[in-house]
Amino acid sequence: MTVKEILSKAESPLFTFELLPPLKGHSLERVYTAIDRLIEFEPAYINFTSHRNEVIYKERPDGLLEKRTIRKRPGTIALAAAVRYKYNITVVPHILVGGFSKQETENALIEMNFLGIDDVLALRGDPPPGTRMFLPERGGHKYASELVKQIVNMNKGKYIDEVEQTTPTKFCIGVGGYPEKHIESPNIQFDLEMLKKKVETGADYVVSQMFFDNSRFFSFVDRCREIGIKVPIIPGIKPIVSLNDMKVLPQTFNIDLPDALTRELLKCKSNEEAWQVGVDWATMQSKELLANNVPGIHYYTLGASDNICRIVKGAY
Ligand SMILES: Cc1cc2nc3c(=O)[nH]c(=O)nc-3n(C[C@H](O)[C@H](O)[C@H](O)COP(=O)(O)OP(=O)(O)OC[C@H]3O[C@@H](n4cnc5c(N)ncnc54)[C@H](O)[C@@H]3O)c2cc1C
Repeated sequence: MTVKEILSKAESPLFTFELLPPLKGHSLERVYTAIDRLIEFEPAYINFTSHRNEVIYKERPDGLLEKRTIRKRPGTIALAAAVRYKYNITVVPHILVGGFSKQETENALIEMNFLGIDDVLALRGDPPPGTRMFLPERGGHKYASELVKQIVNMNKGKYIDEVEQTTPTKFCIGVGGYPEKHIESPNIQFDLEMLKKKVETGADYVVSQMFFDNSRFFSFVDRCREIGIKVPIIPGIKPIVSLNDMKVLPQTFNIDLPDALTRELLKCKSNEEAWQVGVDWATMQSKELLANNVPGIHYYTLGASDNICRIVKGAY
């Protein structure tokens, strides 16, 4: 079943999570361990993040810097397929605009289609690390809405080069939404209009960026409904795992941490204590979201499963 079908048939809010592909050269063992721990909570589907190429500079013996392009975490589609068949579960690979041409994207979607994967989370991607401006790849899209359009076209049997007698794909498309506004948007209303565009182009549902104040999510959903976004909106929850998160998360994701949360974190003397605060806060958030009839909760695990186990045990 696709995510759209799962959502329409669900009798209670879904539990879903996302995992990262391993760093290049590492095995899938840690991914499988994380899934083995979380599978008892009956996830409805599992997402797999995608990671674009990065440019790094390596110092040579002569002191000059050598520019190299590396992809630290390749293998999203293969990993999703491996999990789909090992666990007999719906998988949702993330497909990025950034770093890929339209042809490369089309080829990736064809591979997914052949592998029996009918779900995709369509995203633009961030600018490469160390840069601030997103620049489209040569022959690539600029916005996620254009990627949604490309996938919708494939669902109609339309490929980039005209091919005759094609078999349409049947991708179910998710997109990202930002309760506290995307960092590059001039204001929340603009961002909402751009989200609406993705939905009108063909997105079947929205998954939210992480947030730590549920009222931000509730008002985001209200505003989406007001402007006519009718598809399911799934909240994304990321538990705090270390004291460093207090600085890194707001900077990286353009989100606020509520005063009550930072006060608890400031009392912590170690990362272990901060981790526990993260579990308690995410459990509290999850309970409130579930009590308010969200279609499900999507957990950003970053590969860790112990905290998610505790949160799900406490909240569902
Ligand atoms: C659920 C979720 C999962 C994610 N997974 C990954 C992942 O696996 N890998 C990864 O690298 N990143 C991931 N991200 C991060 C995401 O790639 C970044 O947040 C990225 O900066 C924006 O992606 P988007 O798809 O929301 O972009 P878009 O929808 O294209 O929006 C990007 C910006 O452009 C603006 N905009 C959109 N359309 C237009 C237009 N027509 N004209 C002018 N402005 C416009 C928007 O308002 C926004 O400010 C994820 C984000 C979410 C919410």
